[in-house]
Amino acid sequence: MGHAMRRSFWAFIRTLDRSSSAAALAAVLFIGLYPPLPEASMAVKKGPDSTQWYEQPMRIAALQCNFEKDNPAVIDMWAADGFNVEQLFHPTADLYSALFDPAAHRTIVEQYVKKAHAKGVRIILYLNIHILGPSLESKKDIWAQRTAAGEIVKLYTTYPAICLNSPWKDYFFSILDTLSSLDIDGIFLDGPVIGSEGCQCKYCEQAHQKLYGKPLKDTPHHWEFCHWTKDNFLQAAYARWKEKNPGKIFYMNLPVFHAASAFVDIPAALQYNDILGTEGGFMPYGPAKNAFLWKPSFTAKMIEAISPDKPRVIFMAADHKPWSWWMHSPLETKLCIASCNANAANVWYGLHGSTILLRTPSGAAAGQSMRFFRDNERYFSTTRSLARVALFYSFTSDRYYPTSRGETDFSAGGEAASHYGDLGKSLHGYYSMLAEMQVPFDLVTDLAPAADALGRYDLIVLPSCGALTTETVTALEAYVRSGGTLIADFDASLFDSLGARKPDFALSKVFGVSVDGEYQEHRNWNYFSVDSSSGCYEYVKVPLLPLPLASLPVKVLPQARVIARSLPDLPGRYVALPAPQAPFLTRNSFGKGACFYFAGNFGQMYNDYRPPEYRALLRGIVREQVKDLIAFDNAPGNLEVVLRKQGPRALLHLVNYGAGADRPFDRLLPVDNMIIRLPSSLRPAHARSCALKRDLVVSKKTNSIVLPRLAEYDLIVME
Ligand SMILES: [Zn+2]
Repeated sequence: MGHAMRRSFWAFIRTLDRSSSAAALAAVLFIGLYPPLPEASMAVKKGPDSTQWYEQPMRIAALQCNFEKDNPAVIDMWAADGFNVEQLFHPTADLYSALFDPAAHRTIVEQYVKKAHAKGVRIILYLNIHILGPSLESKKDIWAQRTAAGEIVKLYTTYPAICLNSPWKDYFFSILDTLSSLDIDGIFLDGPVIGSEGCQCKYCEQAHQKLYGKPLKDTPHHWEFCHWTKDNFLQAAYARWKEKNPGKIFYMNLPVFHAASAFVDIPAALQYNDILGTEGGFMPYGPAKNAFLWKPSFTAKMIEAISPDKPRVIFMAADHKPWSWWMHSPLETKLCIASCNANAANVWYGLHGSTILLRTPSGAAAGQSMRFFRDNERYFSTTRSLARVALFYSFTSDRYYPTSRGETDFSAGGEAASHYGDLGKSLHGYYSMLAEMQVPFDLVTDLAPAADALGRYDLIVLPSCGALTTETVTALEAYVRSGGTLIADFDASLFDSLGARKPDFALSKVFGVSVDGEYQEHRNWNYFSVDSSSGCYEYVKVPLLPLPLASLPVKVLPQARVIARSLPDLPGRYVALPAPQAPFLTRNSFGKGACFYFAGNFGQMYNDYRPPEYRALLRGIVREQVKDLIAFDNAPGNLEVVLRKQGPRALLHLVNYGAGADRPFDRLLPVDNMIIRLPSSLRPAHARSCALKRDLVVSKKTNSIVLPRLAEYDLIVME
């Protein structure tokens, strides 16, 4: 793109993290020199560089039920498979719930922790705060959430949902106090969960009256009240825990991708989570062939965007959700673990059946992966992304603009119901295109939008984030003005921060277009056409491409140029073609930067129909705007590429999703002799494949590396 933002690779590295070389070296020394773990009092001990133990790579095991004959024997299985932390559930299991009961569990937990520590396995105690397990069922009349009709709310179709405003809270705090005397390394809270209707029990009624001076049924504050209920509880629990256990971790199961529908405000949640953990590896719920392929890496990138400086964990169910005893295929298991690690997230691997499952091919695959990441863990601390492209996510739009949501353990999935864009599908569409074109990229969010943070990237893709705050609009404007490239979709910025429709895009001047009419829906036989005189025609090389199923009429501002136009709607599929007419893709210069704008839901259409020409068009624009990106010859389409740095070292992660036909994938298609063409600013003297355990030849002349064989994953270390 040839402007002020362009800078050399190594200068770019230096601006990312000036002190990271020393930190990375210290981290390597820490891993190498830290003595074997003593049996007790590990929790508050820091490494020589003052990092906490949980800031080093973690491989977390979990057994979410208890069908074992010998609980402590489980530790040996974890240790043999390379795990170094257990999120401890099974000795306190109440079928599929667990909440420590000092009378019943103290002895077994004390013995368990002692043995685990002796084996070098840290213990985070699991505490269920969303359901009443069988042993607490008798308390449901006072502790459970209620519908407006007075019925008890159930989760998983089975268990009463806990009300945080009920006297259960006092019970929980009394349990929390008893945990201080255990030698555990921290606690994990599974939940809380409030149903979409909110709880209508008498305790919530009282709390609502106290807060707002009116009954629940009259509330205009449904979201705020539900949010307050969670936040109030979690803040108090965190403070109470930290008062007695300042060095022991506290974190929870944070719903990142459906934050708004779960009444979660992410900045508030960051205050009471020492680790950021979310269910990026609970999948696929519906038929696997329909599932979003990139969920693990998508989620890992998201939590890094939210909190780059906190340790991060992706919770991965060993099983193919919602079955509990049916495991992911061995290949899917390895791909998920690899994608999370590649994107700098730790993996929590949880069984929802007995440890017999560890002896299945899938369990063995998990162990193989975990041992690989144990043996190479020095490459996984203190790393930073080297991506120069980012995909934007808006929490404001998640709350105030239509989006479809995937099913989770806590919520049903759902489609966005309107002719507006669908943020979730748009995001998935662009995510897939970027992943499939082998461009390393990050996610960025609107939590703290700032032009200088965005300025790390040469190009940002803005999916149909309809609702944006003024701060976000200002930051995006400043980003483009100072030289960034923006690719924007459909009705981005057409709504204000509370979801009210605006007369025009807030980013109209950046887009180079104004809204000129109402949303239009189209049948799936219409077209748009890339102007043959525009350079972009070369990217697609076809006269007509399928038109997305929704568009916005726009008026092109004088300085902008039309690259593609849509044809008027056809009466049917076998008819004469009218000439292209309405602007569909435009290019605008704004300040030192540029904006490409699609006047239709391009990202969503790719998610639904996956036209290869869409990917080709986007790829052409991205590679035209961001010169000198890493590239591959002979790569499968579904090759995930992550480029990171660790001090002076560059780390290239390659996750090969090119496998068979439909998911669940069960047959790996290895790639032979793939050529990796490095950016000219990255000229390593030495490269090594961690999977092949061998040095690779770096061609100085072509600045490329040949990778003799890629199975499901490799990490290429370049220095
Ligand atoms: Zn309640």
